[in-house]
Amino acid sequence: MLNLINTSFDNCIKCTVCTTRCPVAEANPDYPGPKQAGPDGERLRIKNPELYDEALKHCTNCKRCEVACPSGVHVGTVIQLAKAKHGGFKKGPREFMLSHTDLMGSLSSPAAPVVNTVTRLKPVKKLLDKTLGIDERRTLPKYTGQTFRSWFNKQSGTQEQFKRKISFFHGCFTNYNDPTVGKHLVSVLNAMNIGVSLMKKEKCCGVPLIANGFFDKARKNAELNMNQFARSLTETECVIATEPSCTMTLRDEYPEVLDVDNSEVKDRIFFASAFIAREFARGNQPDMKPVKLRVAYHSPCHLIKAGGVIHTMELLNSIPGLEVIMLDQKCCGLSGTYGFKKENYSTSQSIGQGIFDQIEALGVDYVVTDCESCKMQVEMNTGHTVLHPLTLLAQSLT
Ligand code: SF4
Ligand code: SF4
Repeated sequence: MLNLINTSFDNCIKCTVCTTRCPVAEANPDYPGPKQAGPDGERLRIKNPELYDEALKHCTNCKRCEVACPSGVHVGTVIQLAKAKHGGFKKGPREFMLSHTDLMGSLSSPAAPVVNTVTRLKPVKKLLDKTLGIDERRTLPKYTGQTFRSWFNKQSGTQEQFKRKISFFHGCFTNYNDPTVGKHLVSVLNAMNIGVSLMKKEKCCGVPLIANGFFDKARKNAELNMNQFARSLTETECVIATEPSCTMTLRDEYPEVLDVDNSEVKDRIFFASAFIAREFARGNQPDMKPVKLRVAYHSPCHLIKAGGVIHTMELLNSIPGLEVIMLDQKCCGLSGTYGFKKENYSTSQSIGQGIFDQIEALGVDYVVTDCESCKMQVEMNTGHTVLHPLTLLAQSLT
């Protein structure tokens, strides 16, 4: 029997809007685009599984097709599920390393200075390129010597003074790579008289696991996270995440892709900007000093899908003195682990080129985005430092 999500392909009215919005179809002639890979292909695959098209491997699951579709077809999800069903994921050592972010983080963080030095050495990058297929032109993410959890646990007592509390899903990057955004979230919420607590345990949301075909592991993580959320929500108002892909996965991908029921907690999972903007609108806005900067804002694909861009723009516009220019809503091209793979490097760069050119032409002080993966791609390809919106909010606190 077909599940409901799979049958969304039947709503396709063949308008082709999705294909005009697909960054991969535009950059890579080998990819037929979402209409053909999604609803058209699904009709064929149901009749005969041998009609599965290998070209589906090019889809990055950016979800731009789903946002564009006027008929509500879950195109990206149809493609991911088809890849899972028909053996369309290549699950080698490279895919394992890129997707098991909890494991890699817990092994690398205690030896961060060594790992960070070694992974920047040219011979090491060449070796990773030749043996694993991780493109040597990519800059690999750095690890932090002190995880966010360990920083937070040392000062968690300061959160007891607040009557209101939220639970923070920090995600792998904030915990193992760069805790800055997590620290700034704590500062901003505390200035609004809201305390922060962490789940007793949390696992990777699963987005890199899904993107690389490790569905069973992603499902296990999802079950643990949902269990932890349910417990934590007995003591806190809601769960907040700062990473767009984590938010989208926790809210939408768990039931749709992993078949994990999140109905008990879904309405209490918020993207940080959405929660803070709602508080501001209700009058809970801290005093803010001017931040005299001119910045360009890049909207991440998964935040567009999760509907959070408007809230981030509201927050940025609430900072006195800040001039915000919104970049064209185009994909940066990295798409999590996709752009690290040697065979995707040129497509990834070609997708992002429009954004890089626009940034260079604007001559702004900083680029701003909510996504750590977009930050990596923009910093690698432009001469600009990329800040998180929460960093600017934290700077504006008096
Ligand atoms: S999810 Fe992104 S890459 Fe995949 S078909 Fe849709 S628009 Fe194209
Ligand atoms: S945008 Fe939606 S309705 Fe139009 S072709 Fe794509 S899947 Fe079909």
